[in-house]
Amino acid sequence: MPELPELEALAEGLTAEIAGRRIERAVAWSPATLRTAEPPLEALRGTEIAGVRRRGKLMLVEAGALTLVMHLMSSGRLGLTTPPAARPPRTAGIGLVLDDGRELRLRELSTKRRASAYLLPTSGLAGHGQLAHLGPEPMGLSPEEWRDRLTRPSGMLYSAIREGRRVAGVGRCYGSEIMWAARLAPLTRTDRLPDEAWARLAAAADQVLSSALERARQRITTNLPDREQRVTYVHGHFGEPCLRCGTSLARIGFSEYELVYCPACQTGGRIYADRRMSRLLR
Ligand SMILES: [Zn+2]
Repeated sequence: MPELPELEALAEGLTAEIAGRRIERAVAWSPATLRTAEPPLEALRGTEIAGVRRRGKLMLVEAGALTLVMHLMSSGRLGLTTPPAARPPRTAGIGLVLDDGRELRLRELSTKRRASAYLLPTSGLAGHGQLAHLGPEPMGLSPEEWRDRLTRPSGMLYSAIREGRRVAGVGRCYGSEIMWAARLAPLTRTDRLPDEAWARLAAAADQVLSSALERARQRITTNLPDREQRVTYVHGHFGEPCLRCGTSLARIGFSEYELVYCPACQTGGRIYADRRMSRLLR
């Protein structure tokens, strides 16, 4: 799933490329992707694109007095394409055809169609459900703010760190990377973390996300790749040596993914049970 660094790089690249372009046509290739009925998508026709912004994991295309809000989820992809005259592929979700013939297209790689789009008057944007409950952006957040967001209410660190209503923009990949960089155990209850842990978490989040953003800017300009090519230290590296201490990285299996951590750096040597098994046994 694209997270803050990839989406931020994409927003910057798209703004540089298409700000000032006029929308000639707006099409819901997959009508179910568009979750709002009023104003209709055609209301974008003739408007000029002011820019593309990211907020949390949402992408916002601002045009005229309207904003098209897109939630890509795990398999949505956004980018510029030069469409042939033929019928678009099944992956096409929403398309904004520009005055230079290119199309800004939201694609959906999965048949589950979880990506969604909402066309809203920009004036009422802040009150929209997708945006109204988002927490603050993680970069530059103080240790105290991290503590407040993640302990009210308390939760398991690995899950609280990627809940958008607490702090927006962090997902499974960078959540794991941040916990490793901060040497924090994923299955700790956030209200049991000592005060000094929040300073480590805040510093790790800044460092992990800013270097990931730097790298994302090198490879992402006007399109998100179908498969992510990220540089990571733990995410996706189960069984490999920890690059800090050499210990074999361990994993916690969940039903839909696995979380990789270093037992030496993060959990004081403790190996967690597989959560899929414990769920069955409970
Ligand atoms: Zn380690």
